[in-house]
Order: sequence, then structure tokens, then C-alpha cells
Amino acid sequence: MRIPEHIVEQIRRQTDIVELISDVVRLRKNGRNYVGLCPFHNEKTPSFNVLPDKGIFKCFGCGKGGDAITFVREQQKISYIEALQQLAARAGVELPEEPDTDESRLQRSRTEEAYNALRFAGNFFYKQLFSDDGAYALEYVRRRGFSQETVRMFALGFSPDSYNATMTELKALGVTDEALSDAGLVKSNEESERVYDRFRGRLMFPIQNSVGRVIGFGGRRMNDEDTQSPKYLNSPQSLVYNKSEVLYGIFQAKDALRRLEYGILVEGYADLLSVYQAGFHNVVASSGTALTKEQLRLLGRFAKRLKIVYDSDAAGVKAALRGLDLAVEEGFDVEIVRLPEGDDPDSIIQRDGAEAFQAKLDRALSLVDFKGEVFREQGLLASPTGKTEAVHSMMETIARVPDRIKRDFMIQSVATRFALREEDLYAVLTPLLRRQQFREADDRQRETARAEKQMETGYNGGEPSARQGRGLEMVPEANGQRANADNAQRQTELLPEEIELLRIALDTEGACGYMKERLNVNEELFVSQQGKALFTMICEAAQHGTPLQYLLQEQPETENAANETAALLSVAIGLVVRRETPSENWRNFNVTLEDHTVRILRDSAHTLRLRHLDVELQSLHDALRLSENSDVPLEVLQRLQNVSAERRLLVESLGTA
Ligand SMILES: [Zn+2]
Repeated sequence: MRIPEHIVEQIRRQTDIVELISDVVRLRKNGRNYVGLCPFHNEKTPSFNVLPDKGIFKCFGCGKGGDAITFVREQQKISYIEALQQLAARAGVELPEEPDTDESRLQRSRTEEAYNALRFAGNFFYKQLFSDDGAYALEYVRRRGFSQETVRMFALGFSPDSYNATMTELKALGVTDEALSDAGLVKSNEESERVYDRFRGRLMFPIQNSVGRVIGFGGRRMNDEDTQSPKYLNSPQSLVYNKSEVLYGIFQAKDALRRLEYGILVEGYADLLSVYQAGFHNVVASSGTALTKEQLRLLGRFAKRLKIVYDSDAAGVKAALRGLDLAVEEGFDVEIVRLPEGDDPDSIIQRDGAEAFQAKLDRALSLVDFKGEVFREQGLLASPTGKTEAVHSMMETIARVPDRIKRDFMIQSVATRFALREEDLYAVLTPLLRRQQFREADDRQRETARAEKQMETGYNGGEPSARQGRGLEMVPEANGQRANADNAQRQTELLPEEIELLRIALDTEGACGYMKERLNVNEELFVSQQGKALFTMICEAAQHGTPLQYLLQEQPETENAANETAALLSVAIGLVVRRETPSENWRNFNVTLEDHTVRILRDSAHTLRLRHLDVELQSLHDALRLSENSDVPLEVLQRLQNVSAERRLLVESLGTA
């Protein structure tokens, strides 16, 4: 299906990219732009930029960049058309009707088919809850005290106690066998090869990702006499569901998390519903798994403070301790809410009300106090060796805190609590810190290696970061001395002056023509392979107006073309963003070819030309050296003279008005 240009344009215009990305990333305003932690790679300091004026984003960490459509595609791993459809629905733009032919169905990706199956299943389960079959599940829901509003908000449902009711219903709606299995909705018996519904006779909790799409289910057994099957059953890992990356309730909690700037973490589905219904909307659950790093990173996009509420039994304490260490390591300010033995959030709210739960939240324990209490209960603090062990364990947690000032505060509080000297604590901490740093460096190295592997297949995002560091500031080096024949041949990364030329060419109407006609710049002048490719692409686009705008609008013919364009665009956008982020002044360039712009273009072109001349000079000198005792060919001398003269002129002109 091809969507008319003007409609794509309308979708793009009516999409607020900041709002769109805010659904998944906590953005902070930075001048006219926004920054946040990149959703595409793991980072602790933000290098993900959003430019609302241009409707684009760019990450300097991993190189990903593009417009709203690219963002949705990458984030949800769906096709170009699917991303457009989603954005159209969001922006209230009507798309031309697509006939549901076999062909159009083929074009839908497997991922999208799986999402579709899950959405249909969610609707089906919801309806079933209010049918005769679902009566006892609905009765259970009411007995637990969940209101109609809560049932609707979390779209609870019921899966019929049948081997094929769900399957039959979904197939009638056009869901394929493959999609059913991709979505984890069916299971097959290995021996008989019979396929049957995975969820039977269960109260269903749809698990949604942060943008609200159903990606899996948790199902609670409704027949308590059935002791064969587990009380809670979760979707298996699938194309769209990765349990270690999911937080139950994140979609409903998102706004409250941002507003209140902290999250409440509970264990199960029922706990979450109770807490939410009692008015604490900033609640998420790590259902079906022990808390993971990935879950914390997801939460960290919305809030960096966390109150962990776990059961008070031994298993709960152990889980809380583990969660605590992980959260601390991910840079969270974390507190632990302890509940009386035998209680859970649900029981407290049902029995004592929301105020009682709020009081527990208010009395949450700091990391040091919680660990101290646990050690005391374990009897560790009674003996000197036990105390040493306790302090050591505490220091291990503190060593994970990335922020030094926070660490210092914690040390102070440990010193006070255990009546120890701070110096002694630092003596324990220092070697632990070193170990932690080694580990982190190791992690980083592994991550970089992985990122590099990914990039081998395409453009590297135009990141000269290996040479320039992570900083956004780029200073054109106006010297050609470093260039020699050797690195000129090997040059694959963009040179600073190439970046200057490309950046202006990309974002300034008429710049390409000016460069070609007045400055004699052509593809050959570029030293790096990437520079050559980008310059060609930008000049082609320049025939249609401002290249950046044209490239963003260009609609790829095929999914492959879309991927290629996205890769190139990502590099190109990096060029524009880089300059804009550090200083607002650079914005002035983008309007017309001002004197200043012309000067930069000229100087950059001259610097590039200098590099070529230096390479040539080098080889001329080599020729001279080789022919030391014999006659030097006249043309070599002549050329040497010309090149030297040209070089001198160029050097003199650099940096002049
Ligand atoms: Zn990134």
C-alpha cells in the first residue's frame, strides 16, 4: 500500500514528536530542544536529543536518528506502513481504506500480526468476563473488591475453560496459526502435535507495553481445586513479549510516575490493582519474574526514585535486598516499605484503607536503615564478626551507587548508625569501588563491541566519536599537515571539515549549488567514503528544495529501501543536530547563505583541498627523493612548484573574511 505524499506530510505535521517520544522517554528541556536517556541503547547520561522544530531525534550514543515515523518503527520494531498507520490514528488523520487482501496481509510483518492476535484476544477475554461462562470469574473480581472502573482500566478478562474457544474465535477474525503461536496464545502437544489454547479458565490480566499495546497476558487460575496447573500463568517469551523487560501497569502509571517523580514497586497483579484503585497511580509490578535491570531501565525513563513494597516473609526480604542492589546500581534513589508479617499491599488497603498504606509509604526505610534492620533481625549485629560482615555487605551496596555525593551521605549514615569511624568505612569501600569500576568498564566494553558489530552492516551514524570523544562540540581542524597518502586512502570516518560542508548542504537551501558552482566542490573532493556518499545523496535531494526536508519526506518504495534511507538519514540528521545542540547561534545559519556560512563553506572546502594537495606534495617529494642522483623530470618540478604555490594561497586565505 502506498500512502499519498500529502497525507504522510499531514501525519508528520500533526504529530508532536516531543509528546510522542515522551511516551517512552523522560525528556528534559534543553534550550529549544529536549534531551533524555536513549531508549535504543543503555546509557546513564543522556545523549538522546529531540528537535521539535525539525521534528527529528538523534542519539549520539548509538547513532540512531530520524523523524517520528523512524522512531515508532525502531521502538516497536514494526514496518514503515504500520508506523504510519499508528501515527495517523494518533494524529486523527484518516488513511485511505486498505482492502484486506491476501497480498496486503502478506505485507504486514510477523510482529504486527502477533500484536494483532493479542489485541483480538484481549477484546475476546474482556467480553467473556461479562458472559455467562465468565460469571464466576467476575464474582471473584468483585469479591476481591475490584471496581468496574479498575476492571475497565486494566481490561481484565476471562479465558474460557476450553481447549479451543480462544483459538476458534481468533481464527474467525482472520488470525493465522503462525500469529497465534507467535503471540504465545496457543501451545502444542509435542507427541500428538495437537494445538490448544494456552489460557483456559483463567482470570486474564493483559500486559501492556509503555505505549499501551497488549504484548502478553498473566492468567490467574479460577478453579482452586485444580492443583495441577500453576496459580498464575504468564505468556511465554515471544516475538513481542520479553518478561524481563516488562513492568505490569507501566502504561497506566506513566503520567503519575512523571508527575510524582517516584514509583511504587509491588509484586503481583492483584497487589497492583489494589494499590492503583486506592489512588496510588504511580505503581508498577514486576509480575512473573524477579526484578531485572531492564525493568529498572524502563521505569527509569519516567522516574528515578523508587519505593519497593515487598512481603515481609523471608522470600520477600530476599527479593527486596536483591532489588535494592540492582536499583542502586541503576542510579535510583530507593527506599524499602516494610509490611507487617503476613500482610501484603492488598490486605493492608482492604483492611485499613488507603491512608494506612500512605503511612507505610511515608515511613519507608532508607537503604542503610533497611539493611541495618534486616541484619539486626538476623542477629548479625550481636557479635563483632557479625557486625563486620554486616558492614561489609552494606559497603557492597554503597559501592554500586554511581553518584559520589550520594555515597558520601550513605557512609555518614552508616557511621552514625553503627557507631563506626568514616575513615574505616572508606577503607572498606575503596577496594570495592575499584572492583565495581572494573566490572562497569567490562560491561561498557562488551556493550561497545556489540554496538560496533551492529554498525558493521551499515553506516556508523557519522560519529567521529572515537577521535573526538562524546562531546557535541566539533572544531574544524584547519590543518592539512596530518594528512598523508596512507590515511587518505584509509579514511572512512567523516572529517571535521566534511561534516561542516555536509551539514550546511543538508540544511540550507541553495548551498549545494553554491558549493558546486562557486567553490568547485564535488564528490571527489571528499576524502572519506561516507562523505562522498552523503554528498551525492544530499545533492540529489537538493534538486527538490531543502535537502533535509526532502529526505525526511521521501517515501521509500520498499521496506529495504526504508531501512537504507533510515541509515543514511540517521547519519545526515546527526550532522544537523550536532551543531544545533551546543549553541543556539548556529541556528542562524539555517536561513540563508549568509557571509558567515559562505566563509565556513569556503574554509571547509579549502581545508579538504589542502588535504589532497598535501597527499600530492608527499608523493612528489617521494619522487624527488627516489631520483636524487639522476635527472628529475621537469614536470615533477613544475608540479611541485604549482602545488606549493596553490597550497600557500589556500593557507593564506583560511580564516580571512
Ligand atoms: Zn542511543
